[in-house]
Amino acid sequence: MSKKTVATAWLQGCSGCHISILDLHQELVELLGDIEILSSPLVDIKEFPRVDICLVEGAVGTEGDVRKLQELRQKSDVLVALGTCACFGGISGLRNLYKKDEVLEHCYTNVRNVNKNGTIPSSEDVPALLESVKPVGELAKIDYQIPGCPPLPGTIKTVLQALITGKEPVLPQRSLCAECDREQRELLKPTREFIADSVVAFMELEEIDPVKCFLEQGVLCMGLATREGCHARCLKGNVPCRGCMGPTPGAMEQGAKLINSLASVLPAGGLMFMEDIVGTGYRYSMPSSIIPNISRKEEEIDE
Ligand code: SF4
Ligand code: SF4
Ligand code: SF4
Repeated sequence: MSKKTVATAWLQGCSGCHISILDLHQELVELLGDIEILSSPLVDIKEFPRVDICLVEGAVGTEGDVRKLQELRQKSDVLVALGTCACFGGISGLRNLYKKDEVLEHCYTNVRNVNKNGTIPSSEDVPALLESVKPVGELAKIDYQIPGCPPLPGTIKTVLQALITGKEPVLPQRSLCAECDREQRELLKPTREFIADSVVAFMELEEIDPVKCFLEQGVLCMGLATREGCHARCLKGNVPCRGCMGPTPGAMEQGAKLINSLASVLPAGGLMFMEDIVGTGYRYSMPSSIIPNISRKEEEIDE
């Protein structure tokens, strides 16, 4: 069997997804028996060749990202969105809370030490920011998604192995609660009066039960509205889920799914205590969500 040619690339991300590839360690060396990496930020080859498989990290935030993504799509038989930024917009998508000019103004004139002159750089060599950050799937056809911030190395390996052998990668479909080991006994009670009058902040509790469901303790956990596949790693560390795997397939509106799920288990008024609905429900998926983008899209149409 001839080796599959592979490339990796990054757009607007933090490189953490590429670190996850490196975190395969010995297994990456074994994979290299079946793949040949022709281009990657990790191997510093500038030209992008034609490849069988390309993994792309990061969201689309500049005109340069758009051009790069178009080239990746044209030259790759299979294009895989690697990580939550690529799949849903991720953390960098939180800039969509502001207009582009507000972001530039703040970064270059308000933040000290970024630019002592207080001027916003303008040059043909600096790719212009887009009005808003977009997931790669909005601008190019994506064949598979590997969500996670960062994605698990084991998941990257599983997807690559499937593609190498011509199989369809099997990716997680259920919500995180399905793979969480915490006891959910109270959630089954029909009275739904199991929870305190409020969703309390994590730091306000003196003690977190390491066995019981976080929601049953009154701690906001995004597990209900988040895709499984991370092996519930935060929950095992006694920390509630922040939703970094993004929404479950078919429920692209992660924040609305959370609100809907909570509304069915919390007493009336509980939602008042979600002081930061965007930062909680849409932290990782704002650019691919509808509700937070409605007013933005209306503004863009007006302009
Ligand atoms: S998904 Fe997370 S780890 Fe990957 S580029 Fe985005 S912020 Fe970094
Ligand atoms: S809400 Fe959180 S703690 Fe409770 S079962 Fe789901 S993932 Fe686990
Ligand atoms: S538990 Fe939630 S926040 Fe933690 S890694 Fe899994 S999906 Fe991400």
